[in-house]
Amino acid sequence: MNMQSKLFDIGANLTHESFNIDLNEIINEFIESNINKICITGCDINDSKKALSIAQSFPENLISTCGIHPHYADKFNDSSAEEIKKIAENNLVKAIGETGLDFNRNYSSKKNQINSFQKHIGIANELKMPLFLHQRDSHKDFLNCIEIAKPETNCVVHCFTGSKIEMTDYLNLGFYIGLTGWICDPKRGAHMEEFISDIPLEKLLIETDSPYLLPKKVKIKGRRNKPLFLSEVLNKVSEIRQEPIDILCSEIFKNSLKFFNLQE
Ligand SMILES: [Zn+2]
Repeated sequence: MNMQSKLFDIGANLTHESFNIDLNEIINEFIESNINKICITGCDINDSKKALSIAQSFPENLISTCGIHPHYADKFNDSSAEEIKKIAENNLVKAIGETGLDFNRNYSSKKNQINSFQKHIGIANELKMPLFLHQRDSHKDFLNCIEIAKPETNCVVHCFTGSKIEMTDYLNLGFYIGLTGWICDPKRGAHMEEFISDIPLEKLLIETDSPYLLPKKVKIKGRRNKPLFLSEVLNKVSEIRQEPIDILCSEIFKNSLKFFNLQE
């Protein structure tokens, strides 16, 4: 790969406790490689504050999201919207989320997930900020929430692992699709190989979702994924779509800037 080509990891959970001991090392390591920017995902109020504070220590390279993950939607209460808006005032917070629905695990009640998701859409519309979205086993209700709350800003369905029908629905809504190391897994990602080429290049984003979803090919002790391995996702996308890595790389980087409303 051309060393000048830059990568943008649109979703990394750098607040995760597995990064506590060597976070600075991890960040310096990717800055020295070709990963130019990372968006750190915030999963609840405290986590969003932590994500922001990490971003503030490397403001040239890091941005963050702010919101309450569907897993923690039971925590969404009367003061949550105000707290989210307050954190989002900081200029390194570039998206609202992650939010959405997860009926796979149902760590929070469906009712609370739906309420939290719709409120997040309202916040994003009010602040004119993009939405970082999560959907698992809840496509119908997810679309329903979108129909009701009507997002008016850029939306990405991050870590997309669904079907072609689901993907088509999101693309018809003008959403971006975020691909992770899921596609590098010959078992779990096989069904996606048939339709990844159908994503218009201008809607394609990539992410590691670190420390989760370590690309299968990477053989390391422990299973902690990190932003450095984003190139594995890029390589796999290039292989499936049969598009040259350098072109993909620069187009996806441009998409990422556009999605988060960033100037370079
Ligand atoms: Zn997620």
